[in-house]
Amino acid sequence: MTINGRVLLLNQTYEPLGTVSVARAIIMTFKNSVYVEEWDGDRVLRSAHDEFPVPSVIRRRTYINIRRRRAAAGMKRLRIYMRDKFRCQYCGEKKAATALTLDHIMPRSRGGDNAPVNIVAACIKCNTRKGNRTPEEARMPLLTSQSALRVKLERVVLCHYAEARSEWRKYLFMDVHDDRDIMEKVRREERA
Ligand SMILES: [Zn+2]
Repeated sequence: MTINGRVLLLNQTYEPLGTVSVARAIIMTFKNSVYVEEWDGDRVLRSAHDEFPVPSVIRRRTYINIRRRRAAAGMKRLRIYMRDKFRCQYCGEKKAATALTLDHIMPRSRGGDNAPVNIVAACIKCNTRKGNRTPEEARMPLLTSQSALRVKLERVVLCHYAEARSEWRKYLFMDVHDDRDIMEKVRREERA
């Protein structure tokens, strides 16, 4: 028995929110966070000791504010654009936000996740060209390595928080002057 297929997830108010995997839907059912509205016929998912009926449509027990969720998704998009300095991470061209898309480095259909380190800014042309391939397969090397992306994203997030915490700024290299001071200090310590 495979666990392929998707389950339709509805808001408490019955608006569709999207789909989730069968495994996730069963977990949500067990956690009692959803009602099962429809079962997938007689389909069952078997584990070593048990079998679980497979839902086809589930509905949240609590209401989720989609607008707030969309706003959060917009912030995530913006943070990634900021991290990548509004440059397509494949061709290197600087673009307006409206001409950029988010590209999953390892495509989602191939197990890539939604973590920011798996997502880069890409222009529409490069994103289309890369399609469902990895950068290696598409022979489209990334401008920035993934480990560098991780560090840069942390900087962007920290700088975002630091807007409200002036005492953090000097530690976050937010202006060039401090940057130089700190680097000088590091160099001095290295020599000592
Ligand atoms: Zn590009």
